[in-house]
Amino acid sequence: MKRIAVYPGSFDPVTNGHLDIIKRASGIFDELIVAVFNNPNKTPTFSMEERVALMEKVAGEVPGVRIDAFSGLLNEYAVKKNARNIVRGLRALSDFEKEFQQALMYKKLNPDLEIMFLMTSQDYGFLSSSLVKEIASLGGCIDGLVPEPVKEFLIEFYKNKDQRN
Ligand code: ADP
Repeated sequence: MKRIAVYPGSFDPVTNGHLDIIKRASGIFDELIVAVFNNPNKTPTFSMEERVALMEKVAGEVPGVRIDAFSGLLNEYAVKKNARNIVRGLRALSDFEKEFQQALMYKKLNPDLEIMFLMTSQDYGFLSSSLVKEIASLGGCIDGLVPEPVKEFLIEFYKNKDQRN
């Protein structure tokens, strides 16, 4: 049986921390569906189309990886995709409580699902999409934090935003 996993996230935008998790998880499963989703608790900076397009550019060529978009209940989405596993990344202790609560809830909703956590790599433990956006919006250097196409996109986005202000 094909081992399919879903890696869900806002990816607003995708960072090198996300990409690291994608590459490592893709080596574990036959198919990894990177699912860009609309988190009802977050207001994204970038549209679903922009987030998916950036993800396609930076992770579309990773073997075994497929990019998708979804909204709604993650456990139902996973079942629809025949995925038995959900992958999440863990950075600091601060991620743990929220992820732990969510994982228990998904397990309750669907006991067949296994939620798996990959620990961040040493270089990316401090890295988040919001931090990258903050630095980029202030004209700071984001080299090494995001893949090149994301860097170009962010520089362009904040340049245009500055011109409008
Ligand atoms: P969400 O809105 O689901 O939290 P994010 O795009 O912020 O979406 O994160 C998606 C997943 O990637 C989460 O499991 C998050 O913990 C993980 N993640 C985010 N940044 C990193 C990083 N630097 N290293 C490892 N995992 C990360």
